[in-house]
Amino acid sequence: MRFIEETRVVSDGELQDNNITRYHVTRFYREQTTNSGYYDQLKYIVEPSIEEFESRGSLDTSGEHQNTVVPGLQHKYARTGLLLVTDRCASYCRYCFRKRIVGKDSGEIASDFAQVALYIGCHPEMTNVLLSGGDPFMLSTAKLNKILDHLLPIAHLESIRFGTKMIAFEPKRFEDSALTALFRRIHEAGKAAIVITHFDHIGEISVDAERTIRSLRAEGVQFLNQSVLLAKVNDDPEILAATFAKCHEIGVRPYYLFQGRPVKGASHFQVPLRRGIEITHGISQRLSGIEKTFKYIMSHHTGKIEILDVGDDGRMYMRYHQNKVLERIGKIFSRPHVETACWLDDLPKG
Ligand code: SF4
Repeated sequence: MRFIEETRVVSDGELQDNNITRYHVTRFYREQTTNSGYYDQLKYIVEPSIEEFESRGSLDTSGEHQNTVVPGLQHKYARTGLLLVTDRCASYCRYCFRKRIVGKDSGEIASDFAQVALYIGCHPEMTNVLLSGGDPFMLSTAKLNKILDHLLPIAHLESIRFGTKMIAFEPKRFEDSALTALFRRIHEAGKAAIVITHFDHIGEISVDAERTIRSLRAEGVQFLNQSVLLAKVNDDPEILAATFAKCHEIGVRPYYLFQGRPVKGASHFQVPLRRGIEITHGISQRLSGIEKTFKYIMSHHTGKIEILDVGDDGRMYMRYHQNKVLERIGKIFSRPHVETACWLDDLPKG
């Protein structure tokens, strides 16, 4: 197998034992990254590294199992349902926090959408569903329409979200006129269609991606972007500020910059929290007021935590952006700061 560092002979058993994600990259993405002028950074997103064998961590850093209410449906935060609709992606990111699922034949994918709809129907507090996986646009448009057959009749659902990196990996997928019709169908059902793109680096935003986004925006689809802060890829305020400015220019609102998670096989991508804060300050210094729409977030099993700053008292200040317990949302809390900390659990209590 070709790794970034060297070519090494590895057995299937060795790959499985170490949870090494399968290797696949679309031709489009390979050409885009090669021609972008940023290949030396972007290669780490999809090219395997020897470091994956040594990278310690967990395979479920956000407590996804304990929040699964029906096979494939998670209900962690009151208003949002997270639906895993596939275990496939067009290319595989080496840092994926769902390594336990993607590129494998996973038993965690939803199959009984009537059962899913029954649960959602009994939970009027849920106002939106996020289709994720894997990448929902790996499914045929016909299959996506079948899923919508179950979701659209639910009156209290106000929006349907799609979490996808397909616009970076294979923008051609969106040239399917049936897909445009699917977005229209969501609107005609009185709901918002929202696509959450996943651009980590300005070099991933191709001309084709930009064209796709502009044409779907003209159809009323809303776009937001989430990025992951990744060592060697985008741990640079200049790059992330350029990425977010470009997103704004094409009508995609950056909303989360995720702290890398301590995922087994991927924790070498983590950037220390102190450095992350410096980077987010650097990004904000380079953007205008209307472009600073992102939050620096740690998606912890206790909730989504916005990372704010290290105070003069040596404590790291954070705030719950999302929490299962409504009263905790918005609450600022702090922990003693440790220079090497990359995750909440690396900070001592007290
Ligand atoms: S596209 Fe998303 S789900 Fe797929 S491998 Fe990359 S990070 Fe994981």
